[in-house]
Amino acid sequence: MPEAMVATRASEATSSGNTLEVDVAVVGAGFAGLYLLHRLRKAGLTTVALEEAGDVGGTWYWNRYPGARCDIQTIDYSYTFDSDLESTWKWSEKYATQPEILRYLGFVADRYELRRDIRFGTKVTAATWDEVSERWQLTTDNGAPVSCRHYIMATGCLSAPKPPEIDGVKDFKGEVYFTGRWPHEEVKLAGKRVAVIGTGSSGIQSIPVIAEQAAQLTVFQRTPNFALPAHNGRAPADRVALLEGDRAAYREQARWSLAGVPWPQQTVVSWQLSDAERRERFETAWAAGDLVYILTQLWADQGVDVEGNAILADLIREKIRSIVKDPETAAALSPHDHPFGAKRPCLDTNYYATYNRANVTLVNVRQEPITSITATGIRTDKRTFDVDVIVFATGFDAMTGAITAVHPIMGRGGKSLSDVWAGGPQTYLGLTVAGFPNLFMITGPGSPSVLSNMVPSIEQHVDWVADRLMAMREKGFTTIEATEKAQAGWARHMADCSMLTLHRLANTWYTGANVPGKAHSLMPYTGGVGPYRSICDEVVGHGMLGFRLTGANVAAQCNDGEIVRLQPDVRLVLGMLAQMNLPPIESFGAQGARDFVAEFNKSRPAGRPVGEVVDGTLPGADGPLAYRLYRPATPGPHPIVVYFHGGGWVLGDEQSDDPLCRDMCRRTGMIFVSVGYRHAPEHRFPTAAEDSFAATRWIAEHAGELGGRPGPVLVAGWSAGGNIAAVTCQLARERGGPEIAGQLLVCPVTDCRFDRPSYNDNAAGYFLTRSLMYWFWDIYCSPADRTDPRASPLRGKLAGLPPAFVVTCEFDPLRDEGIAYADALAAAGVHVERLQASGHFHSSFAMVDVVITGVSGRARMAGALRRFAGLSEGIGAQPAPDVAPQEINAAAG
Ligand code: NAP
Repeated sequence: MPEAMVATRASEATSSGNTLEVDVAVVGAGFAGLYLLHRLRKAGLTTVALEEAGDVGGTWYWNRYPGARCDIQTIDYSYTFDSDLESTWKWSEKYATQPEILRYLGFVADRYELRRDIRFGTKVTAATWDEVSERWQLTTDNGAPVSCRHYIMATGCLSAPKPPEIDGVKDFKGEVYFTGRWPHEEVKLAGKRVAVIGTGSSGIQSIPVIAEQAAQLTVFQRTPNFALPAHNGRAPADRVALLEGDRAAYREQARWSLAGVPWPQQTVVSWQLSDAERRERFETAWAAGDLVYILTQLWADQGVDVEGNAILADLIREKIRSIVKDPETAAALSPHDHPFGAKRPCLDTNYYATYNRANVTLVNVRQEPITSITATGIRTDKRTFDVDVIVFATGFDAMTGAITAVHPIMGRGGKSLSDVWAGGPQTYLGLTVAGFPNLFMITGPGSPSVLSNMVPSIEQHVDWVADRLMAMREKGFTTIEATEKAQAGWARHMADCSMLTLHRLANTWYTGANVPGKAHSLMPYTGGVGPYRSICDEVVGHGMLGFRLTGANVAAQCNDGEIVRLQPDVRLVLGMLAQMNLPPIESFGAQGARDFVAEFNKSRPAGRPVGEVVDGTLPGADGPLAYRLYRPATPGPHPIVVYFHGGGWVLGDEQSDDPLCRDMCRRTGMIFVSVGYRHAPEHRFPTAAEDSFAATRWIAEHAGELGGRPGPVLVAGWSAGGNIAAVTCQLARERGGPEIAGQLLVCPVTDCRFDRPSYNDNAAGYFLTRSLMYWFWDIYCSPADRTDPRASPLRGKLAGLPPAFVVTCEFDPLRDEGIAYADALAAAGVHVERLQASGHFHSSFAMVDVVITGVSGRARMAGALRRFAGLSEGIGAQPAPDVAPQEINAAAG
């Protein structure tokens, strides 16, 4: 059916006594509520929307403050479900004003005749799940109660204004306005003394406009925010051309993008660019006036790494200083307490320049707290400001408030949603809550929502929910409810995702920190719009994984489980590898596999800068061996870590784990010397082990010449390199040195047995496969030699070995032999620390800057190496500020 024809479909709600009976009741008539009405009507479901406001618009109905505009380009901030609608409506500006967006939503409501199913001026006063009828029973403050099978909160994320939390508001005799509840009639500010409290998006948009009208404007700022010039005007020609060139492709790209706007994934990292190149990129972004652009397109590490982010934050602060003439005001306006993007940045028109006006004063509430509001104005602990008008731009009880503050929602067993969420929101997919059957949320906590372009996210949610309701009807199911297990799995996945970005490092409304007493948790989904969409699709593909479905005349269905067990970035990497459909590495032969790995490594992000990288050779057991030395930028001499690369004793060289060595050199503040031991099949067992032992001894004896600290060295290795590091420790103990202060074994090969469960659980699909391990073993070592401790260190004598840090990954065939080695070391009295990394695969920690969630694990490894070397755990000169201790624990298995 053409979308426009849906309007003609009759709405067939029935009444039972005084109660309106519908299939679905929706709260809210903003972007989400309107599209829901349309989709549900199209599906033939009777629906009513209950809306407190007098008309459609949702957030755009209420937020009418001066200067209110969209801050995602409007061509992207539009419905995409109907191409006819898209070609009928033309936006007049790059960032539409609130009145224009409201007109658009009114136009949509008219076009699909949606108002006839909306009860305006109606607040739901309670929603209760009735276990007997399996329906939600709603009471309202206007009109008949409503009984519905399904109840959908389309209440938005920012619809419950936060109380001002300042004493004395009621005493004020002047005018008081809230940006989130701005009057519909004209507010006259001309000639008045106005105070604005709050410098989030609403404050930053309204302050320049208010300054032009008011006689005097005093801005009370608690936390400075980053703001960028919008450069509003006509929609940029290049974006419009892209959209109009292939509208369907443009929209599809947005749906699978990270933020819901079709920009490509940036791959160049900050340290690959010169200062001049970074500045050029920044100036382009500053001139572009586009939040999503500057948040995603400058360099790949800006949103995930504090150092990459700090470069950008410095450049913005420089801009603020160049615009604001008074240095003290410029300093007060410059944010220093959060990474750029971790708190919602703003888009402005003349915001910073407004502080150059003679009639504008900035009050830094951090230095001069507001103590009260009096009859005549605002008092700080230093001064009193007499004003005629106070504008509160103090924000919202975001995400949860939009749902729980609306009315009591009582689910199964009379449990209230507010109580269930008292410790922070719990949801499955951000769409549903265990214990609340047939309740859905659009853009609820746990969905990408506010970290995305809201409109495509809303469309995805609505489509997913509407499709589920149709599928249920077809199969005769009448209830759907998330399971506790699925919900707990989503909470874990959310926590994993929170390690991807820097949002966790700021106190913001994203985390609930803006509302006193609110539980602290990062509420929006940080894994991105496209990944989220694919997860929702997977839930369906796996037979509604994590949902219980029941119906009177059908057998109940419950495919319980967790939808994502991998770390989010591991999932992306493995998904990309699966799409490449590569032949098994072992099918290339040894040389072919080496060439393949060398080629593959070219596409990975470059390693980070360290103080110095030196290539050299050292005498091995049987001739010279190449090595690469990584020296920290800090003054030496530094302890030395002898490092052995991975590659199954067949692949790789002293340079092939370059990003890992650089990262660990920076994190530990120690020299890493990566040894180019010889490989099979040219040099089979025990060459790799003997070369590595000889190299370790030589490095220990020549530590001073290498610029290192004389005394014990440490050893480290990943995969087969972990095997070699473990063997080196055993040989050093048996052969009278060198002295080794500690061993770091990352996913080590420790034994020649293949019957441990991880060999079966993770036999295929996680890059390192069982058959590849068989191949490595066959090339390296004859079956007769495999039980030699130089091949299988688990079979060696373990007492008296240096302290060990053993890393194992959940989705690695080698997981259980790594755990077995750690257990055996501990049983032999060796000091052992472990990291059992959940959701990670064999290559997680080596894929530096690809698997971002590996950061916390590497920080722990570095801390252990420093302790083993007798240093304090923190590095001092090169801290790893991107990881807080509790986060490390959260990421560790
Ligand atoms: P907000 O970002 O939460 O900003 C509230 C401001 O009020 C902050 O500066 C906050 O300081 C301050 N504040 C709160 N309570 C205070 C108190 N008791 N004393 C002093 N200062 C206080 O709220 P918002 O500006 O309404 O924006 C919320 C979100 O809505 C935005 O982040 C954005 O997502 C959305 N929005 C979008 C648009 C758009 O698309 N154009 C426009 C407006 C809003 P602290 O930072 O110290 O808490």
